Amino acid sequence: MRCPKCGIENPEGKILCRACGARLRAPARAARALPVRETDQELRQRVSYDLTRVVWVIAAVIVVGAGLGLLLK
Ligand SMILES: [Zn+2]
Repeated sequence: MRCPKCGIENPEGKILCRACGARLRAPARAARALPVRETDQELRQRVSYDLTRVVWVIAAVIVVGAGLGLLLK
């Protein structure tokens, strides 16, 4: 893979250029650095979905906890 800075050819899989030390490939995280833009509506839907899920999880914990409490008595 060719160095974008000095143009020298580097072995495949190298992260830093062997000649100038420039980064040859962006870290995997950088590819995801640009977040997918959500519209306000999508964001609200997602938040409300998350809240609904949290409420269900709490309800399940309470029900299971109460059930266990009754079983252990
Ligand atoms: Zn280089």
